[in-house]
Amino acid sequence: MDAEKLSHRLATVAEFVPQGARVADIGTDHAYLPAALMLAGKISFAVAGDVTRGPLENAKEEIARVNLTGKIQPRLADGLAAITAADRIDTVVIAGMGGALIAKILEQGKEHLAGVQRLILQPNIGAERVREWLMNNHYELVAERILAEDGHVYEILVATATLLPVRYNQRELRFGPLLLEEKNAAFREKWAGELTRLQAVLDQLAAAPQPPAGKVAAFAAEIAEIKGVLQ
Ligand code: SAM
Repeated sequence: MDAEKLSHRLATVAEFVPQGARVADIGTDHAYLPAALMLAGKISFAVAGDVTRGPLENAKEEIARVNLTGKIQPRLADGLAAITAADRIDTVVIAGMGGALIAKILEQGKEHLAGVQRLILQPNIGAERVREWLMNNHYELVAERILAEDGHVYEILVATATLLPVRYNQRELRFGPLLLEEKNAAFREKWAGELTRLQAVLDQLAAAPQPPAGKVAAFAAEIAEIKGVLQ
């Protein structure tokens, strides 16, 4: 993969970036996403932020390789601290991390989100944590995608700020309110895998000399919920 050939995962993230956007890609690593967007003429400005020196060097090299030095700003920063008000960022992308880390970055950098119209978040695991943060912070999911690539299943959540209260129930938080409407092949693959994993844990618990009743009931309930969704 490079800026001229994005993975299916990052290309799908890119689809949700509005034409002419001013983008901050937080945790950019090689800056493939902002570089691809700039090469395609889709964005007018980008900050490529990363908290770690090595990935930021990767970003600088890729930006130079595709002759975008000066057009994309690589910044060494923790989370949303990469953004300043003068950047007038309207779209924030945080991709390729765990959901708990994405939620933490959003929570810690909330004040940098004033003026941001769209969040495009791609948790590798733990999407539920991200949906919870969005709901608790007045962001509404406007699109969700789930896709399989190279043996992994990825979720992409797209959200916009809203003044109205946002309510998702426990099932929607876990499975995705919009993904639940579609239940595509990648969705079924993900949850069938989770079902197998949970069933194996439950079998082990149940085989113990003194099965822990509370845990057994909790796993059984989780399994029943997934089975209900996959029906
Ligand atoms: N966004 C790219 C993608 O989706 O392919 C790269 C993902 S890479 C697996 C995760 C990157 O996030 C790493 O380069 C890591 O240094 C960076 N990262 C982790 N925590 C961060 C934070 N708090 N602020 C900024 N970057 C962070």
